[in-house]
Amino acid sequence: MALIEVQVPDIGDFEDVGVIELLVQPGDTVKVEQSLITVESDKASMEIPSSAAGVVKALQVKLGDKVKQGSVILTLEAAGAVASAPAAAPPPAPAAAAPAPVVVAGPAGSYGGAADVECDVLVLGAGPGGYSAAFRAADLGLKVVIVERYATLGGVCLNVGCIPSKALLHVAAVMDEVRHMVDLGVDFGAPSVNIDKLRSHKDKVIGKLTGGLAAMGKMRKVSTVRGVGTFLDPHHVEVEETTGAGTERSGAKKVLRFKHAIIAAGSQSVKLPFFPQDERIVDSTGALALKAVPKKMLIVGGGIIGLEMGTVYSTLGARLDVVEMMDGLMQGADRDLVKVWEKMNAGRFDKIMLKTKTVGAEATPEGIKVQFEGLDGSKSEGLYDLVLQAVGRTPNGKKIGAEKAGVAVTDRGFINVDLQMRSNVPHIFAIGDIVGQPMLAHKAVHEAHVAAEVIAGTLKGDKELASAAFNARVIPSVAYTDPEVAWVGLTEDQAKAQGIKVKKGLFPWTASGRAIANGRDEGVTKLLFDDSPEAHGHGRILGGGMVGTHAGDMIGEVALAIEMGADAIDIGKTIHPHPTLGESIGMAAEVAHGSCTDLPPARR
Ligand code: FAD
Repeated sequence: MALIEVQVPDIGDFEDVGVIELLVQPGDTVKVEQSLITVESDKASMEIPSSAAGVVKALQVKLGDKVKQGSVILTLEAAGAVASAPAAAPPPAPAAAAPAPVVVAGPAGSYGGAADVECDVLVLGAGPGGYSAAFRAADLGLKVVIVERYATLGGVCLNVGCIPSKALLHVAAVMDEVRHMVDLGVDFGAPSVNIDKLRSHKDKVIGKLTGGLAAMGKMRKVSTVRGVGTFLDPHHVEVEETTGAGTERSGAKKVLRFKHAIIAAGSQSVKLPFFPQDERIVDSTGALALKAVPKKMLIVGGGIIGLEMGTVYSTLGARLDVVEMMDGLMQGADRDLVKVWEKMNAGRFDKIMLKTKTVGAEATPEGIKVQFEGLDGSKSEGLYDLVLQAVGRTPNGKKIGAEKAGVAVTDRGFINVDLQMRSNVPHIFAIGDIVGQPMLAHKAVHEAHVAAEVIAGTLKGDKELASAAFNARVIPSVAYTDPEVAWVGLTEDQAKAQGIKVKKGLFPWTASGRAIANGRDEGVTKLLFDDSPEAHGHGRILGGGMVGTHAGDMIGEVALAIEMGADAIDIGKTIHPHPTLGESIGMAAEVAHGSCTDLPPARR
């Protein structure tokens, strides 16, 4: 058994800083990057992460000790050397992005005035992260206040993201399906689109969901203070009231005092600096406003958001160009799955420009003239009625006065957190897009529950709740295009790149009765199982991906199988209903196991 000493790493100019909090005890199992102690200087406080994983044998520091770079924090029985460690778990893709380098916060502010509102938990931002944290904390008996600058709860996801995009994608999918019916002998004729009605349908969907959230908040006695919140110090936030449908400031201010805070301030679209101010150049929010259907549209950025919006506009009649700096669209998913989507969608695009940068743009009366430069130096130009900027999202960490609370924010605006979603300030937590990739609503909600439970457990002395942590193995991704592409855990491309030996079970939907009956048998379901010598032929599932209609609705089963450590027999012998698309998951497992009877026999 290897005993190692974990030391204080390079913490910049900090010499002889006091230990103010011990975050682990002998016997605890710690992971790499998990916070071990909190230290405080006269300038800031910060948590010191572990450089190794294992079981804490002995703490070498106590509260009040002074430490500096090289001081031994504790001795650890390193993971891998621990005799009683559980059987090797599959090495799925990391659940959350590795934290960015430690950034030290500046001196915190100090507010000496009175507070208008006091609460146990202040939640800054009411997106999926914020409202879920607030509701969970309230359900656990805490007094909670949400601060939100917009009139409705729900954040990006409900108002200008996941939900409105899916409302429009559903309509697009139905229109495409109806067109396809002609081949099956049913002709509904050419669709006539009333764009005002379509927009109002989308707005009604948003209204129903955000209204539902407001009602659920009231039932839980969660108060909402509307306005832009900024930290005054580690226990106070000032809120400048906003009015109307946007974020117009009225000038009225309130101060809120909190015991704990959860920062859930989300992210915003990245804007390319060289694009002129012009209503024909939009981000995803502008595209979702659905003002008109352009004849010719450029999508800058070939990621999920751009391709989903492109699907909607092209079904409504726009011709598309897409420009992407990388060598393929929909990065992250396995190329074999993306190829199926590409083949089905080739007809939507006039040009797919890969390995190409957008380098300039000019607003002209005829349209937006955009200049491109290939990575090989080639130059080209295009004229567009609408340009969608979909080159990523940037976190809002630098806009909330975090430094006044002593909360460290990275150069890029992220807030680093530990597995309990704590920032470097122990009573201030952060969740959702603001803590890192993947920027997805379901990740934000999971993190929200962890933060709320840790806070409730701490305030109420409930050890079980207080020990909640983000320990999900995987986070699924879905492109809600047509067909949908969904994946979770290890991808085949990652397995190759990392030299991980996997056994693949691939089930083509050309053999799925349901897919054929639906007239949509282009799909594929793929599962990857651990095929390392230690797995002895019974490796657990490490990842899976699908392309096909409703793939997004089915990927949850693969995520569950990974979380449960299932192997090919567990999945293949689970009786799936027939005839369904979901059956393809069981059959892909049977293929890996060698027992599939729905495909021709494997060659001997
Ligand atoms: P947000 O939803 O960004 O919410 C943050 C909230 O904080 C906002 O309401 C903001 O107004 C408020 N706020 C910020 N600063 C302050 C302040 N100082 N004071 C007061 N309030 C403040 N994810 C999926 O999982 N599935 C999808 O299908 C999907 N589709 C998407 C489609 C589009 C077009 C876009 C843009 C995103 C999509 N996403 C999707 C991503 C998803 O919307 C985000 O991951 C999710 O909303 C993040 O939640 P959050 O709580 O971290 O922050």
